[in-house]
Amino acid sequence: VSSSPRLTVGVFSHHERSFWVEPLTAALPDHVVVDGSEPHDHDRIDVAVVGNVPTEGLTSYRRLALIQSLWMGVDRFLDHPGVPDHVPIARMVDPGMPRAMAETVVAHVLGLHRLLPFYRAQAATRTWAEHAQPFASDRTVAIMGLGTLGTAAVAALIPFGFRLVGWNRSGAAVTGVEVGDFAWVLGQADIVVNLLPLTPQTTDCFDAAAFALMRPGASFVNLGRGHHVVDDDLLAALDSGHLTHAVLDVFRTEPLPAEHRFWTHPRVTVTPHVAADSDPRSCTEVIAQNVRRVAAGETPAHLIDRQRGY
Ligand code: NDP
Repeated sequence: VSSSPRLTVGVFSHHERSFWVEPLTAALPDHVVVDGSEPHDHDRIDVAVVGNVPTEGLTSYRRLALIQSLWMGVDRFLDHPGVPDHVPIARMVDPGMPRAMAETVVAHVLGLHRLLPFYRAQAATRTWAEHAQPFASDRTVAIMGLGTLGTAAVAALIPFGFRLVGWNRSGAAVTGVEVGDFAWVLGQADIVVNLLPLTPQTTDCFDAAAFALMRPGASFVNLGRGHHVVDDDLLAALDSGHLTHAVLDVFRTEPLPAEHRFWTHPRVTVTPHVAADSDPRSCTEVIAQNVRRVAAGETPAHLIDRQRGY
């Protein structure tokens, strides 16, 4: 018999009830789960499970003890006027997501290593021409951001034999990776993969100066956030031929506007923010555990550091 109080959990997401509300209701039989898109009493909500901050904001929810993000990246909450300053925010750490992100990283790194975008472009003109085939061990891959997702990507890349370099904030060692400073890491790599969180320190970090540090012929894969990249500087680096290819999953404006040059640029691959998604099959229990922690008066897991920004 649980002695914890019965909490009310509000779900704020664009998904239908069956996506989050129903699995959470099943996982939290001792608590009440309400769909935030339906009329509800703001004063009863203890935990807000948030994908998209509701248009009226969360500041009128006076009881809130936790904002549980449905996303691993919490940048959208930190500068949001509708998010109260005093309520702790937990990011989603979905055990399924690192696997999905590692698959995406491997797919793009191998695609660039095996020149797939290049051969796809050749095929469009029915050109039959072979190009040099370096070994994986001849190539250096940089992972910018060596956190939950960056280290999962590293673990998945190691068996292929690429040389791996990487950047983090603390300089902490990561097995299989030569960790160095930003300029050194960029200067080493043939393929640069961005898996940083968006913070004031990392906003616009991939600008003309950063692209100039990359090796001639290098490729860039952005799986972090669109605001890490200065779009015009990336386009200039591609147009000049300094960079060979960019794979972009995230954009400053999403959906990527129809008129944006990235859509039609021959050296750009666009995907619609699909590198790794939060899946209720693995996330529901993560959220439920945090609700139970709040009910038991314990500290929720995966709280973010607002000062640090991630
Ligand atoms: P973590 O918080 O686990 O890791 C962040 C990493 O970035 C850490 O290694 C951290 O360094 C490093 N870092 C942070 N700030 C700086 C800085 N100023 N300078 C250098 N390094 C820094 O995040 P995750 O791995 O879980 O996620 C990373 C990002 O991936 C998310 O924030 C999100 O934006 C993006 N993402 C994209 C998805 C997509 O579908 N495209 C899906 C999910 C996430 P240290 O280790 O020293 O703390």
